[in-house]
Amino acid sequence: MNSEKLQVDLQKMFDTRVSFRKLERKLYGHDIAAIPGLVKPFIGNTVPDAVVQPQTEAELTELVKWAGKNKVALTPRGGASSGYGGVIPVKRGIVVDFYRMRAIKKIDATQNTVTVEAGIVWEELDRALMKQGLTLRLYPSSYPSATVGGWLAQGGAGIGSFEVGWFRDNVLSARVVMPDGSVREFNGDDLDLISSAEGITGLISEVTLRVQPLEEMDVVAIGCPDIYDLQRMAENIIEKKLPVWSLIFINPRMAELKNKAPLLEHFEHPAEERVLLPASYIMTLAFRKKDSKAVMDRLDEVMKPCQAELLSQRIAEHEWENRFKIMLVKRLGPSLVPAEVVVPLARLGDVMTEIENKIEQPVVKEGIVVRAGVSGEPEVVVLGFIPSDQRRLSYNFIFGLALTIMKVAEKYGGRPYSTGLYFAGKAKKIIGGDILLRLKDFKSRIDPKGILNPGKVIKGGAVSGLVSIAGAVEPLVRLLGNRVVTRVGERPTKPVRGIPADIAWYAYGCSQCGYCVNECDQFYGRGWESQSPRGKWYWLREYMEGREDWDQFMVDTILVCTTCELCNLRCSASLPIEPSWMKLRGQLINDEKKMTFPPFEMMAASLTKEGDIWAAYRKNRTDWFPRELWEKHGPSHKAKVAYFAGCTASHVETDIPMAAVRLLDAAGVDFTYAGSQENCCGTPMLVAGKWDTFIETMKKNIAAIKEVGADTVVTSCPACDMMWRQIYPRWAERLGIDYGITGKHYSEVIAEQIKSGKFKFPDTGQKVRVTLHDSCHIGRVSSVYDAPRDLVRSIPGAELVEMEHNREWAHCCGSVLTLIKEPPVAAEIGKARLDEAIDTGAEKVLALCPCCQFQFRVTAEKKGLSIETVDLARFAAETLGYELPDSNPEVQKQWAVFEAMIALMTPEGFAALMSTMWPELVDAMPFGMGKMMRAIGKIPGALNLMKPLFPVLFPRLLPMMMPKVMPVMLERVGERIPMPDYMREQMPELMPRVMDNLMPHMIGDVVPLVTDPMIKYLREN
Ligand SMILES: Cc1cc2nc3c(=O)[nH]c(=O)nc-3n(C[C@H](O)[C@H](O)[C@H](O)COP(=O)(O)OP(=O)(O)OC[C@H]3O[C@@H](n4cnc5c(N)ncnc54)[C@H](O)[C@@H]3O)c2cc1C
Ligand code: SF4
Ligand code: SF4
Repeated sequence: MNSEKLQVDLQKMFDTRVSFRKLERKLYGHDIAAIPGLVKPFIGNTVPDAVVQPQTEAELTELVKWAGKNKVALTPRGGASSGYGGVIPVKRGIVVDFYRMRAIKKIDATQNTVTVEAGIVWEELDRALMKQGLTLRLYPSSYPSATVGGWLAQGGAGIGSFEVGWFRDNVLSARVVMPDGSVREFNGDDLDLISSAEGITGLISEVTLRVQPLEEMDVVAIGCPDIYDLQRMAENIIEKKLPVWSLIFINPRMAELKNKAPLLEHFEHPAEERVLLPASYIMTLAFRKKDSKAVMDRLDEVMKPCQAELLSQRIAEHEWENRFKIMLVKRLGPSLVPAEVVVPLARLGDVMTEIENKIEQPVVKEGIVVRAGVSGEPEVVVLGFIPSDQRRLSYNFIFGLALTIMKVAEKYGGRPYSTGLYFAGKAKKIIGGDILLRLKDFKSRIDPKGILNPGKVIKGGAVSGLVSIAGAVEPLVRLLGNRVVTRVGERPTKPVRGIPADIAWYAYGCSQCGYCVNECDQFYGRGWESQSPRGKWYWLREYMEGREDWDQFMVDTILVCTTCELCNLRCSASLPIEPSWMKLRGQLINDEKKMTFPPFEMMAASLTKEGDIWAAYRKNRTDWFPRELWEKHGPSHKAKVAYFAGCTASHVETDIPMAAVRLLDAAGVDFTYAGSQENCCGTPMLVAGKWDTFIETMKKNIAAIKEVGADTVVTSCPACDMMWRQIYPRWAERLGIDYGITGKHYSEVIAEQIKSGKFKFPDTGQKVRVTLHDSCHIGRVSSVYDAPRDLVRSIPGAELVEMEHNREWAHCCGSVLTLIKEPPVAAEIGKARLDEAIDTGAEKVLALCPCCQFQFRVTAEKKGLSIETVDLARFAAETLGYELPDSNPEVQKQWAVFEAMIALMTPEGFAALMSTMWPELVDAMPFGMGKMMRAIGKIPGALNLMKPLFPVLFPRLLPMMMPKVMPVMLERVGERIPMPDYMREQMPELMPRVMDNLMPHMIGDVVPLVTDPMIKYLREN
């Protein structure tokens, strides 16, 4: 279909929920599998024409009808955590992303059922169920990213399947949008027409499934010397009817690789303890606590004939806690060739032994036992991985070994796990002959045009044919695969197209599992894959392979990450994600001089001149300091502890430092203050990638603290805390600067004083319910969670209630980078967090950070949210009877300045500004060009002929014109931005620096916007 019409129609239907951006389309055109180079040509171009995100069933209906009429293929997509090619749009067309269909429609606690929209992720659903005393009966190990609809469409077994079987058998009904746009409810045997059908028969909009009462679980881990023993163990457990809920296992090779896998890191140090696994088959059993006795009493009897031994509780818990991290070992590849089969439990030993005998590569395996499989007999899902490197030709040969695993499984009565794109030729075995016949008949009747997910399950394309042919010559393929020398372990060697070697390795180490996607604020603030870590890693691969290049959109995408660090904790491969983006910032901006966010240039200019990012005067920096404390705690007082206010608190939210020093003073802390020698902590420059400015600032701050004789810096701003505690020491070491300073948050100091009995809050008789927002820069960065809570709890009358995401799982407020780059997105992120706060029933949300408070107040104003945000220091100091100024008017005033500044510092903003000053701009042209242009303007058509010259001329002329037009430019900027006087006074000095840094980057985008207005002006004047 004509692509213009497609765009117009889809835009009308989905507005901002459709993307035609090439990058986005590419990111929605693949799944987790890395397809070998030799296979790719058989699949062809899989970049869809558009990606849409419907949010209602009615929208799905409209879309399907439209697609039918226009013969456009639709490919449904849940979490894209599958690897069988089901989500790959082989006929291009439209990818239907279910991200925005994730509502829970009904939880029935009496019947133990739940009805949900198809796009809800398992983890999210489970969290909601737990609040009602329920939990899932089973879930895939991709629980943090896979959707309910995706699992039904894909079909599968998972954690809990030992007790309750395959997922399909736990579904009561599903609502499906059919190819003709009608909506049909499937239940009973008819579920066979949509389960494992991968969306070829309809788009699943809603699913009703069985759930179970929430009960505490116990886990044990058992080591078995060989696979036959493990098989016997599982058979004994079944035979003796042990009330086990989940039975999963790994092979010794997996245990060995897990022992070698990199640990979670924090500032380049391990952030977790290594739990060493024995080199044996390790079975992990999970069972309800109430069944613990029944299991444990008979476990010995079950284990004895199998020479099995009970492993330590630490191992059991570690294996259970990490049950979703099955791709951790991928970092050792950095790729993994997967092969998944279902085999009868009775032949598990034979299958695994033959695989080991035939494949001379390390095959790591993981298994899930299903007590009553499809035929009623016990079966095992075996997932095998062979470490490899997708960048090498040999990956193609290793990939072929997956066929050996399939063949061995089939020999012993097994089958491949799923059909998807590659194994359509084996559909009869996988889904069963009868069901396949029914499915084919049904498909031909309901979707004769083949609109829904073409090329999958029943009708494979060229690639499915290729797999069949390769299967026929499997011994030959195996020979090639076995010849490859496989190296296991992380070994980044050299940069690739300028991407540092470690980051290049991580990009391939990312399994694309998607665990990081939904919880990344940059993703949920926008809803598009390019903004998630998963999308960024994929883009980096594309870049390194020469299919993408840096543009401002991608530079901004790296820069805009809020540095919240939540992704580091969620990553199934424990990749240092946020530190990787941080490293890239320095490379892109500081080294390669690409453009940072324009407002950072204004901040940098102000920082260099006055030591703060708010364009305030240094001489006013200490205005907030309570005069009666000046002698006791001011700069002339020498003390080991120095309070560091930071610039946002010093100039905007002055109640925060006032409250903090009042608290410290009242708690009997001997402290000093560097006064006007203090500078911005430098965080904005670090995250802006302006590292030279950051280093200068850091040096000044260290010198200022040394000057007052302190060795401990106490802050009330988590970003400042992060600098003093984590960043400065590391940079100081790198730069050979003597440091020796410790960073602390005031809440820690006050909590210590309370604990030691030196201080307590008075009872004001007031009762208030509050919740606490854990700022990322003090929470995940420095693990300060208890001190602020201790402080709140020690205030009589204050009741602390927790938000759903708290402590290390707390969501970010959405400041500062998003606020600067895209204020509407920041408001979405802020709203998500404030909604959580509102859900707690608290009257106030306590912030630990001036920037979080700023962002929440701006968000509340924009989104009309009623909850009040108060800084913890202020909240606490007020109970001591101090009256503090209300900083909210200043916050809103400063935000108005910033918002106008942000709007101005865009190509559109500058173009609009230039349109107000054509006479001055033309007159400022050097070499008499202004006069010449005016004369040419009078010759009809002449300026149009000159148009192609403008992009060349303008960048050369502008630097020469700038000094001349600066006065009028400042006047016009002043009219657009509601600046306070002190800022207006400094603009003649700040603005030229900003323009010098920005214009070389921006002029290319500004010229096309100003060309026609300038021609019009010249013609008319
Ligand atoms: C770390 C990891 C662990 C895994 N563990 C398991 C496991 O234990 N058990 C298991 O079975 N699988 C597992 N998988 C594979 C995969 O996660 C599951 O198949 C999962 O259920 C897929 O869900 P999804 O939302 O990601 O679906 P997707 O991958 O997005 O889609 C899967 C298929 O369903 C179709 N589809 C998606 N949504 C709809 C819809 N609403 N209507 C119609 N069709 C739709 C797609 O077109 C595609 O064909 C694992 C994967 C990973 C990465
Ligand atoms: S640090 Fe936060 S914002 Fe940045 S990529 Fe990770 S989760 Fe997203
Ligand atoms: S970054 Fe980590 S969590 Fe995200 S997709 Fe990659 S491996 Fe999964």
